[in-house]
Amino acid sequence: MSDRPAVFFDRDGTLMEEVDYCNNPADVRAIAGAAAGLARLSEAGWMIVIITNQSGLSSGKITQAQYEAVNAELGRQLDGLIDAVYFCPDASANPTHRRKPGTGMLDEASSDHGIDLARSWMIGDKDIDILCGQNAGCRTILVETGYGKKHLSVGANFIAPDVSAAMEIVLGHLPE
Ligand SMILES: [Mg+2]
Repeated sequence: MSDRPAVFFDRDGTLMEEVDYCNNPADVRAIAGAAAGLARLSEAGWMIVIITNQSGLSSGKITQAQYEAVNAELGRQLDGLIDAVYFCPDASANPTHRRKPGTGMLDEASSDHGIDLARSWMIGDKDIDILCGQNAGCRTILVETGYGKKHLSVGANFIAPDVSAAMEIVLGHLPE
């Protein structure tokens, strides 16, 4: 299997504006400039993967159908440029290794799609996103949207004002 590099994105607060336990597609707002950046990443050869914790699925705040409707709306707003989505329904109090900062979802994506984690990036707005990327050996970018301003000291490789700026950083590092 040939190894491709990927850019892993957190969803809520990173690719779309933060809505606590978003369960309504009418509340989905892609971050400005996200679709244009994804198009450039895709063109440059990066695989684009969403990695999202969705504990609302196990607490009953989000149904599976609502989760899927929200994802579909985000995908539509992002011009169908998302190659794959991995989600973890675990409760935060009772996580498996799939829940970020665990690397289970990245490991699955790597196995499913032949992704080279060492050449990949993780972009997110929380400490758990950055720690997940670090745990998997990815380079990391913290965005200041969503909860990002609360997690500036987590030790990401880069900090960017939003996902659009984060993708500019990735685009400055061509897939090797
Ligand atoms: Mg987030």
